[in-house]
Amino acid sequence: MILELAPDLSVEARARLLQTLRRNRYDCRDLGDQGVPRIGILGGESVDPAFLERLEGVAALVPVGTPFKLAGRDMHPKDTRVQVGDVTVGADRLVVVAGPCAVESREQVMTIAAAVRKAGAVIFRGGAFKPRTSPYAFQGLAEKGLKYLAEVRETFGMPVVAEMTATGQADLMMKYVDLVQIGARNMQNFELLKCVGRMGKPVLLKRGLSATIQEWLMSAEYILAEGNPHVILCERGIRTFEPFTRNTLDLTAIPVLRQLTHLPVLIDPSHATGIREKVAPMARAAIAAGADGLMIEVHHDPDNALSDGPQSLYPDQFAQLMRDLYVIAPVVDKQVDFAYLDKAAAMRRPVSEGRQPSRCAAFMGRAGNFSHKACQQYFGEQVEAVALPSFKDVFDAVADGRADFGIVPIENSLSGSIHQNYDHLLTYDLKIVGEIKLRIVHDLVARPGTRLADIRRVLSHPQVFGQCLHYLEQYDWERVAVSDTAGAAERVGRSETPGDAAIANRVAAETYGLAVLAAGIETNPRNYTRFVVIGKAPLDRRQGQKTSLICTAPNRPGALLAILQVFAECGINMIKLESRPLPGEPWRYLFYIDLEADLETAEHAETRRLLAERADFLKLLGSY
Ligand code: PEP
Ligand code: MN
Repeated sequence: MILELAPDLSVEARARLLQTLRRNRYDCRDLGDQGVPRIGILGGESVDPAFLERLEGVAALVPVGTPFKLAGRDMHPKDTRVQVGDVTVGADRLVVVAGPCAVESREQVMTIAAAVRKAGAVIFRGGAFKPRTSPYAFQGLAEKGLKYLAEVRETFGMPVVAEMTATGQADLMMKYVDLVQIGARNMQNFELLKCVGRMGKPVLLKRGLSATIQEWLMSAEYILAEGNPHVILCERGIRTFEPFTRNTLDLTAIPVLRQLTHLPVLIDPSHATGIREKVAPMARAAIAAGADGLMIEVHHDPDNALSDGPQSLYPDQFAQLMRDLYVIAPVVDKQVDFAYLDKAAAMRRPVSEGRQPSRCAAFMGRAGNFSHKACQQYFGEQVEAVALPSFKDVFDAVADGRADFGIVPIENSLSGSIHQNYDHLLTYDLKIVGEIKLRIVHDLVARPGTRLADIRRVLSHPQVFGQCLHYLEQYDWERVAVSDTAGAAERVGRSETPGDAAIANRVAAETYGLAVLAAGIETNPRNYTRFVVIGKAPLDRRQGQKTSLICTAPNRPGALLAILQVFAECGINMIKLESRPLPGEPWRYLFYIDLEADLETAEHAETRRLLAERADFLKLLGSY
């Protein structure tokens, strides 16, 4: 049961109400204000609606339709994000947990941790207490193993996860790990669930070998009911009649869970399939299906692994999988961030003397637009995103130190470069320190209750109309051009005119209380925008993968060829070459060039010297 409270109820009256409920032996939780202020009643048997209805401040009683009250969406509509060290599980950046099945030795975990971290894993796994089918099989290194895991955290800055198999291990887990795993075999070990509930540390709850989704959510409920909200679910395959895989991976659980629960979901394709070759395809499918991340077993010497060797990926297979996920993620509105841990560590360091350690990044437009989304996907939540009216304001804010970083679009896969921002990069003394690509999906959004037949006018950015022509041509709606898509959504949210709609993204629709009438109306689904992050200095010190530069060539035969020849001579792959008129100088051209190399390293001193010699003008915009 949920009690919806009167909107103007004072804090004191709310506290009194909670007290009255508890005095009458109701197990209740203050659910905060998600739209309406609410209190959740958990204890089911003796709930007396007549009594509850009469209480001061109660406006309405809303029944809860599921037995998993805290895990369900009735009491908690918004998605939960679980913080594990520096890593947020359930946000836009995919979380990949990787490591061996079992911790075998110090050297083994150090070798594997170095490899998986380099490839993009953000949490390290390894069992120290192994639940094995045979009592004669390797049972794990116990505390010694946990100590090695803690060493991995110190050395590589990765949070670590290990399985807890008995309540007696609670102190060790509190001491050594960041995330406590409850294995499939213990999913219904209720004493263990209550124990991790009381511990308060984040919990990774695996699905039981033959558990229904409801049973699994009831197990999560045990942990939540003890007051620990940090629960992550992990599907790892269920037992079916099919012998060709160790288990059957239930990917349908992802959309089912999305609807039923607010808890984040990881997929473990290693235990699900039990066979190395089957792991990567299922991992890719899991991300495409909307999982928040993966748990994958990786071993540098699987033939000699003490457990689960046949399903463990070699480090290079894991690295290849991460590259595939990097490509897939933006299609489903997510990112693989290879610099996740380095950025987080850099953000924890104080900026400079006299400055607050909090960081901020400026973007153009308003909350809910694509630049804002790019900002959140690049930095996560540790950086405050600040909206400014123009691109120039973003560059100014970074140049004069009001913002630590700026994020601006630089090119679109359909409409090409955004010259305005190249011009700013030319004139400001700032660097490109990072990049991020977003898939651009346009939705038709309007106030709830509006039907397609009601629409008369549609508001959006002129370029967006161009990108949605096929769809728009079916209707004779008036097109009203505004400066940005989130602005269009905001105006429609406030509009008194029935029949107004906007073309914007889903986040903007949510931000301004609009409903999606038609999703994905852009003509070409391969619509991506590349954003660059600008700053005075890079956030982390990793070697860049790319360099962007602008140059001009002398006006004589072969001048451009001579510049391009430098890349050929130095073995550098060029991935972009674009020319545009030099502003204010008719018939002279600027060349925008992107390279697959970090030109700012000592190794490329000669490349830089040759370029400076052969170009009239050269500006390295940054390596990232
Ligand atoms: C494991 O992750 O090492 C493990 C034993 O998994 P499960 O409990 O899913 O079998
Ligand atoms: Mn295993």
